[in-house]
Amino acid sequence: MQAILGGTFDPVHRGHLHIAQAGRDLLDAESVTLMLSARPWHRDTPEAPAEHRWNMLCLAAQSAPGLVASDIEAERPGPSYTADTLRELRRRVGCMEPLVWLIGEDAVTLLSSWRDHEALPGLCHLLVFAREGRPHRVPDGFRLAERPQELSELPAGSVHFAGTPPMAVSGTEVRRAIATENDASALLPAAVWAYIRRHGLYAGVGRA
Ligand code: ATP
Repeated sequence: MQAILGGTFDPVHRGHLHIAQAGRDLLDAESVTLMLSARPWHRDTPEAPAEHRWNMLCLAAQSAPGLVASDIEAERPGPSYTADTLRELRRRVGCMEPLVWLIGEDAVTLLSSWRDHEALPGLCHLLVFAREGRPHRVPDGFRLAERPQELSELPAGSVHFAGTPPMAVSGTEVRRAIATENDASALLPAAVWAYIRRHGLYAGVGRA
C-alpha cells in the first residue's frame, strides 16, 4: 500500500499533517508520502518558489513520524499532472499494489476538471477528507468503499470518505496571517514557521 498526499504546499501547514496522519492511521500504512506539485497547472502560480516549498515540506515530514517528502513531480519537465505522477508511481510499485491518493473534499469536487481524470480510477483509490462541510459525492468512475480497509483489497478504483473531524486551516489563510499579522505560528509546524521567518516568505502577500 502506498499512500500519497499531493499538494502545492504553499506552505505545508497543520491541516496537511492532520489528514496525512489520520490517513496513515485509517489505512494502517507504514508511511504517507507528501508529494510536491512543483508546477501546478490548475491554479495560480504558487507564492513561494518550488525550492522553498520543498525545503518546508522536508522540515514538516521530519516533524512527524511516518511522513516522507517526495519531489518526483519536480523531476519531470512541464506542468505537474496528477495522472502522470500516478502512472510513474504505478510503474514503480507494480500493477497489484494499492495506491491511495489522499485528498480534501474541496479538491475532489474539482476532479473532473483535471487533465486525464478518466484515467484516475484505474490508477488509484481516493481517501477523501471533509473540509468545508460539502456533501459527499462519489467522483465519476469510482465506487464507494464504506470501510477504509476495502482500499487495501484492490489496487485502485474505490473512494472512501474519512470521518476524521476537519481542521479549518488552508494555505490561503496562512499566507494572509503572515502578511497581515506577521504571525502564523499556530497554523504551522514550528520548523516551518522558523524557516518562513528566516527567509522572509509571504511577507508581501495581500499588501497593496
Ligand atoms: P490553498 O489555500 O493555497 O489553496 P491548501 O491549504 O488547499 O492551499 P494544497 O497544498 O493545495 O493546500 O492542498 C493539498 C491537498 O490537501 C488538497 O487535496 C487539499 O484539499 C488538502 N487539504 C489542505 N488543507 C486541508 C485541510 N485543512 N483539511 C482537509 N484537506 C486539506
